[in-house]
Amino acid sequence: EAYLQAIEAGNKALNAYVAVTADKAREMARASDERLAKGEGGALEGVPLGIKDLFCTEGVHSQAASHILDGFEPAYESTVTANLWADGAVMLGKLNMDEFAMGSSNETSHYGPVVNPWRAKGSNRDLVPGGSSGGSASAVSAWMCAGATATDTGGSIRQPAAFTGTVGIKPTYGRCSRWGIVAFASSLDQAGPIARNVRDAAIMLRSMASPDAKDTTSVDRPVPDYEAALTGDVRGLTVGIPKEYRVEGMSAEIDALWQQGIDWLKAQGAEIREVSLPHTKYALPAYYIVAPAEASSNLARYDGVRYGLRVNGDDITGMYENTRAAGFGAEVKRRVLIGTYVLSAGYYDAYYLKAQKVRTLIKRDFEQAFEDVDVLLTPTTPTPAFAPGEITDPVEMYLNDVFTVTVNMAGLPGISVPAGLSADGLPLGLQLIGKAFDEETLFRAGGALE
Ligand code: GLN
Repeated sequence: EAYLQAIEAGNKALNAYVAVTADKAREMARASDERLAKGEGGALEGVPLGIKDLFCTEGVHSQAASHILDGFEPAYESTVTANLWADGAVMLGKLNMDEFAMGSSNETSHYGPVVNPWRAKGSNRDLVPGGSSGGSASAVSAWMCAGATATDTGGSIRQPAAFTGTVGIKPTYGRCSRWGIVAFASSLDQAGPIARNVRDAAIMLRSMASPDAKDTTSVDRPVPDYEAALTGDVRGLTVGIPKEYRVEGMSAEIDALWQQGIDWLKAQGAEIREVSLPHTKYALPAYYIVAPAEASSNLARYDGVRYGLRVNGDDITGMYENTRAAGFGAEVKRRVLIGTYVLSAGYYDAYYLKAQKVRTLIKRDFEQAFEDVDVLLTPTTPTPAFAPGEITDPVEMYLNDVFTVTVNMAGLPGISVPAGLSADGLPLGLQLIGKAFDEETLFRAGGALE
């Protein structure tokens, strides 16, 4: 009830929730109380969560914040949300996001932009919460849920977590099932939690993760007790500092925060070592070929026949064209155009194939670095949260993802932990990148930074 009241009071200003499922929440909470009364109960018994609109939730409309999925009510539940409910969590509602998870500011949503609960000191100007999981980050930050599901294709969990002073972890590719999550770029997409602190994120991820026969890329490995990894002890840990992440355009305060993170870990007994990831500068351009390519293919299914919106035309082609023209927003259309172009016969080798080769080089860079270190420390974003409308050039917007996309390209786990405030009082995040399936070290080191 307290969370429902907080949503009632705060959502008008923040636009984080696109649907509040109050009846369902009360019903689930009652069932949870009954289980607890019987001495039963899972790891998340009674914990009220918000769910990103990208997750299919049975009988509750799930639109990926797109007009083209108008009124779509899945007849099935995503594996990740089913896992959460099986552990006793309670659903508060569906959370706003960039349309089809394409964006870094939550300005591309069909439901309108999400507002960050934070303000710069002495200013009343709205700020973006980051994207694409902006609703998840904003809701957690404003106490409108205890935790939220999110997804990360190129930074969409970690960047909004950094912009809102919350913790977000993208686990290793394959850790969480993608079944029932609307696909953006299937070889990059991963689900993960946004939570108020590292411990909450650890507890949530343990519930979300599972092998799943319905997603052939999910990995059949036992899910460790991540909470147990929070020992508070980083002695003996070797932390790599990738020198190529000192990019142009990084603000001085982000640089200072990074140094502070290094100093903190060192003071607690970690060993710091500089490492090189030489292909870093190609990650962003390669990502913006691979991700749109996969998106253009995944989004081909929205044809006005199978889901949501239909706008009739003179014939079937006209219907397709009218539906897609009306149903997709500008950023989604841009991605479909880029993706179709780079996959076309004449350009495939020059763009898509080249980008896949770059991806292999990036992966190898990390493998080599992890021969010498246990974990890498970088900033999460090059700047703190900016104002809506401030970045209008799409390519400039893509630069937000410069520190995060490499991790998706290599399939590795990455966590963003709030680590300080900017001069004008805005949250800043540090990112830890781990070896494949070693989320435990991220929680361990993340706990020491928090
Ligand atoms: N900002 C990136 C993009 O727009 C990443 C989005 C994401 O991780 N879903 O593609």
